[in-house]
Amino acid sequence: MQRLHLPQKQAMISSPHIFLALFLFLSGRVAMAFSSIRRPSRTNSRPWLCMTTTNLQDELTVAISTARKAGIAAKRLQKTLIETKRAAIEKSDSSPVTIADYTVQALVIAALRVSFPGDQVVAEETSGVLRQDPVALAAVMDVFRLESGETYVTEESLCEILDHGRLPGPRTWILDPIDGTKGFIRGEHFCVALGMALEGKPVLGVLACPNVPSSTSRSNGASLGDGCVFFALKGQGAFMLPLEANGSSLAEEITHAVPIRVSPATAGEEARFFESVETAHSSHSVGAEAARALGVITPPVQMDSQCKYGLLARGEGEVMLRLPRLGYIENIWDHAPAYVVITEAGGRVTDTEGKELDFAEGCRAGTGKMGREVTGIVTTNGRLHDLVVESLRSFWPPRGG
Ligand code: AMP
Ligand code: MG
Repeated sequence: MQRLHLPQKQAMISSPHIFLALFLFLSGRVAMAFSSIRRPSRTNSRPWLCMTTTNLQDELTVAISTARKAGIAAKRLQKTLIETKRAAIEKSDSSPVTIADYTVQALVIAALRVSFPGDQVVAEETSGVLRQDPVALAAVMDVFRLESGETYVTEESLCEILDHGRLPGPRTWILDPIDGTKGFIRGEHFCVALGMALEGKPVLGVLACPNVPSSTSRSNGASLGDGCVFFALKGQGAFMLPLEANGSSLAEEITHAVPIRVSPATAGEEARFFESVETAHSSHSVGAEAARALGVITPPVQMDSQCKYGLLARGEGEVMLRLPRLGYIENIWDHAPAYVVITEAGGRVTDTEGKELDFAEGCRAGTGKMGREVTGIVTTNGRLHDLVVESLRSFWPPRGG
């Protein structure tokens, strides 16, 4: 796959209005895209009294609609930012962030606030870096106004949207606006990952994957395609839709969405592995050792973001290991949305010792952080889970760390 090497250092945005001009040029149908999101008619006025997934149809509809529109906007932005070589801003921990991360976060939270004003939101970005960078802030405002059709937004109200709702509460939305930012900057895979937890337990997951082919017949490893949305509600199965709406109502599209299921493979040597592109996010060498221990010969498919979980959920691979450096603390937004999709498709997600993941503290504290004891994450098609966890036991986590 061709890789575009773009600068990942300091902000390269000279004029925010370039973005506005580019966006007006690039899209004839952007305005009002988000303004159609309104409070659903079947609104539960006391949501905290009614916490089963059978009552979450409105939440699912809003989540799919919002993530889908955000994914389409982000795909356009990816093209524009790469073409204009304005991809990355650097955060204080040296990780990159882009105009798209902030814009998508603001668009999604603004939509959730309209539909579910009492809910909490734990999202990856905060307004801190943006407040220090007026040029980037102005660019985010321009794109937000254009995509949402909401012209009233000010710098302060945009920052306030970004920081909205990080308090303890029974209903928590979990958002990674651009999961796989490094893939986004390279022109490859990324996803808008939106989940929801009730009392700290994930019950809804939507992964809008703008570059994943929407049908399995067009999908080949990490090949780029027209875009796909994976979604699931706890207890109700996992499904996929194309990224682009087909003209019928979303309710109708959801009714006819394609059910997805993990691969039925049971033999270790048949396992197809997914792994991060970035070896800093997950050790490629230990992943290879684990694959060898199972007798696997097929090389792993490298891919950024939770799109990997989506492909695993629809049966295009069996195992995904996340083996970060010792001391790295996982974020709930990197796993919770995909967790629901994978488990509803018949797969399993645990830590490397086979223990269930706990998302409750990250929701409650509003930080999104998982426990320090999670030294890695294993995702499988379910049938291979115990075998993979067992095969990892002898060499992960590394001793003495
Ligand atoms: P992936 O695209 O699968 O490589 O995962 C992307 C996610 O990895 C990002 O959203 C980050 O939250 C997370 N991440 C960033 N730095 C690290 C790190 N050093 N180790 C593990 N994960 C990381
Ligand atoms: Mg992420």
